[in-house]
Amino acid sequence: MPKLKNPKFFSTRALSVALRGVFSFLVPGAFLLLIAFLLHRLFLVEKLPFLTRIYPYVVWVAGVLVAWRFNRSQLFFVILLLAAADRSLFYFAAKGPGKGAAANIVYNAISFLLPLNLLFISMMREKGFLEKRNLWRLGLIAFQTIIIVLICVFKPWNLDLLLKHSFIKSPAFKPLHMAQPALFVFGLVFLILAARYLLSRGVIECGFIWILVLSFFALNTGKARAALTIYLATAGLTLVISVVETSLGLAFRDELTGLPTRRAFNEALSNLGSRYAIAMIDIDFFKRFNDRYGHQVGDQVLRLVASKLEQAIGGGKAYRYGGEEFAMIFQGKDAGESIPHLEALRQVVEESKFIIRSKERRSRKAKNRRKYEKPRSQEEVTISIGVADDQGRFSSPQDVIKAADQALYRAKEEGRNRLVR
Ligand code: GH3
Ligand code: MG
Ligand code: MG
Repeated sequence: MPKLKNPKFFSTRALSVALRGVFSFLVPGAFLLLIAFLLHRLFLVEKLPFLTRIYPYVVWVAGVLVAWRFNRSQLFFVILLLAAADRSLFYFAAKGPGKGAAANIVYNAISFLLPLNLLFISMMREKGFLEKRNLWRLGLIAFQTIIIVLICVFKPWNLDLLLKHSFIKSPAFKPLHMAQPALFVFGLVFLILAARYLLSRGVIECGFIWILVLSFFALNTGKARAALTIYLATAGLTLVISVVETSLGLAFRDELTGLPTRRAFNEALSNLGSRYAIAMIDIDFFKRFNDRYGHQVGDQVLRLVASKLEQAIGGGKAYRYGGEEFAMIFQGKDAGESIPHLEALRQVVEESKFIIRSKERRSRKAKNRRKYEKPRSQEEVTISIGVADDQGRFSSPQDVIKAADQALYRAKEEGRNRLVR
């Protein structure tokens, strides 16, 4: 096995990436689950009856408002589903414990259908509210309600018995309130959602896993009906938070490169401290990539450069300033101290040969192909950098940015692929 040059650096970096991954998975889902669990297990739910009365309505109203404001019909459907499940279970439970076959049928049917609906909603392509398909989706939920009523009244094909059938006789299932068909559906949906999350690492995908887990807890509370409401409301809250989180995140994180945006950069300017350097970085002849190979390849070049900027050492933090321009802030360093790191960065970009992947070549339609030069497999990517610092000469970060911009301009004038102070 080849020896790693700097194993210590490598392992701490891998560890911090792994920890960040675990953290973003657990927050806020696991935290909310823990609170709901404690409320349930410490019997606080019964002691705080106003909580059960007010909390779910607050979540539902907040959910609908956030869904409307951020144009997320997915969130709307989740709230609708959870509220419908909660109110139906509440209504039938209010008839008295263990009374009537209908209460059991409704419980079993909801336990069975809820995860399937969650899966269905999680796979919805988000296109906003004003979409015709949303009417169908509403209809589908209404249709299921009718089916449940029909099962309660007519009990066709022994569906009521089938929903609570025990396929596997084992004491392992005893502690669970849920019937086995519902349990299997929960397990299956969990596996699908988990796989989707592992592939995408999305905040919303993560939210759906926690909604499923919270629903699972809700439906296994047994006689603690109030706790069921708390769990289901918390499930809704999880997605409300996830939607707000992604929507806010979009403003501060650039979708294409994953770097913080100019907005984040502007915010960082307001707490720089007294000693700092700012570098402005521009890709050389970037238009060439777009013109020769199309925008997709241009985007890939942007991603490549961004990844190099992100890995830069020396305490510099990179931002996508706009288009093919990046900015880097070195806090606690003056321009002189940042120069070796920026020079190293310039070299790393120069040495990284950009390979144009065959996928892009194939994806060009034949008639468009003539427009672009036949792609070579390798292209050089270089950057020009201008750097400046404060040191009392300038009055504001804006002035430092301006000075860095002028330095960048000179770097371009002097022939590009260089660093100018
Ligand atoms: P130089 O900086 O070396 O003077 O030359 P240049 O070719 O990089 O010049 P210029 O800054 O004028 O070109 C910037 C181009 O970047 C223009 C624009 O079409 C392209 N661009 C800006 N944002 C994006 C983007 O997000 N994706 C792609 N593919 N192209 C972008
Ligand atoms: Mg450029
Ligand atoms: Mg430019």
